[in-house]
Amino acid sequence: MYDYLIVGAGLYGAVCAHELHKKGYSILVVDKRSHIGGNIYTEEISGINVHKYGAHIFHTNDTGVWNYVNQFALFNRYTNSPVANYHGELYSLPFNMYTFNRMWGVTTPDEARMRIEEQRREYVENSARKKGIRPEDFTPDNLEEQAISLVGTDIYEKLVRDYTMKQWGRPCDELPAFIIRRLPVRFTYDNNYFNALHQGIPTGGYTQIISTMLEGTDVRLNTDYLADRDALNAQARNIIYTGPIDAYFGYELGTLEYRSLRFETEQLRTDNYQGNAVVNYTDADTPFTRIIEHKWFEFGVDRDGQPIPGTVISREYSLEWHPGEESYYPVNDRKNTALYEQYRKKADMETNVIFGGRLGEYKYYDMDQVIARALERVSSVPGRG
Ligand SMILES: Cc1cc2nc3c(=O)[nH]c(=O)nc-3n(C[C@H](O)[C@H](O)[C@H](O)COP(=O)(O)OP(=O)(O)OC[C@H]3O[C@@H](n4cnc5c(N)ncnc54)[C@H](O)[C@@H]3O)c2cc1C
Repeated sequence: MYDYLIVGAGLYGAVCAHELHKKGYSILVVDKRSHIGGNIYTEEISGINVHKYGAHIFHTNDTGVWNYVNQFALFNRYTNSPVANYHGELYSLPFNMYTFNRMWGVTTPDEARMRIEEQRREYVENSARKKGIRPEDFTPDNLEEQAISLVGTDIYEKLVRDYTMKQWGRPCDELPAFIIRRLPVRFTYDNNYFNALHQGIPTGGYTQIISTMLEGTDVRLNTDYLADRDALNAQARNIIYTGPIDAYFGYELGTLEYRSLRFETEQLRTDNYQGNAVVNYTDADTPFTRIIEHKWFEFGVDRDGQPIPGTVISREYSLEWHPGEESYYPVNDRKNTALYEQYRKKADMETNVIFGGRLGEYKYYDMDQVIARALERVSSVPGRG
């Protein structure tokens, strides 16, 4: 009999496993996939660590979490600076002075601010006129109105509109304004996408972090908890469940919705395909949203600093999700949030089961948040003594 059965060998499950093992508990971890790591899994292909479930950049303002994760790997100094490709025109992201210089030829923050303000004002005045209201009473009704009133028409049309449409599968004027509460606009020459205190990629990939965390626990892969629930429950006193909360309850109240992704991964002979780890394709004619060139997360060199020949790229497509498919982004709209709340009430009534992680809590969490939540969840568990 194990003290804990942990369903899911992703980051949340692994942090819990590691901490509970340190407290003296015996642990069985199961995952229905054929590998550990959940969505942060990286697989080595010809010396390159491939982010199998999309680009993962560790970034955090929480120094405690940063120190915690640094126990398990050596992090490099990678800084996320994606490039946007709009019909072959290249723009820096997030929107900053390099972007504005490329867009309008302006060189000072005041000129850039003026351009955005002019476009914003003209748009709000026209829209208010059409709605028969005063400009000062204008409030955005959809994502298009929201985005233009934040960044003006040019940036919206070249860098936001089609990319967002590809991401969500619907035009921006049919999407709710709340999806883009704010669009970061910087009036400095700064391409650092995440404004985080700490940032980097583990040299050698993420999988090593999870395998170190799971040392001392029993791990069973290719094991679907829900397909063998009674037998697995009989083997442990407590359960930590990091799978989808609606699946746990047999979808009895309905199915929570997600957006899905598809990756087309290709190994190429060239040593440098696009010169950057992440290039977003912001036009409507390109069917994918971005291309990841994995070797640049680790500067194209191996652990000894030697250049890695060849390259591996992944084209990322954003897709409609259907039940049973890989779920990526929860759709936290009103309908799904209400449904999740109902499931959460049922979850609160389960004895000896902790629901956690992005699927167990139906919430998009960055890795640092997942670590913080897992640490907090197990911190109150006393040592086994
Ligand atoms: C495309 C993409 C890019 C991202 N980029 C970043 C980034 O740059 N930086 C960042 O900080 N975060 C990023 N994230 C978020 C990051 O992936 C998550 O924070 C993290 O993976 C969540 O870990 P988890 O353990 O909660 O979930 P998961 O990794 O999903 O782990 C859950 C595990 O449970 C298993 N499971 C489910 N049901 C069952 C069952 N019935 N039986 C057995 N096992 C089961 C699954 O197979 C899975 O392995 C990104 C997410 C996505 C989707």
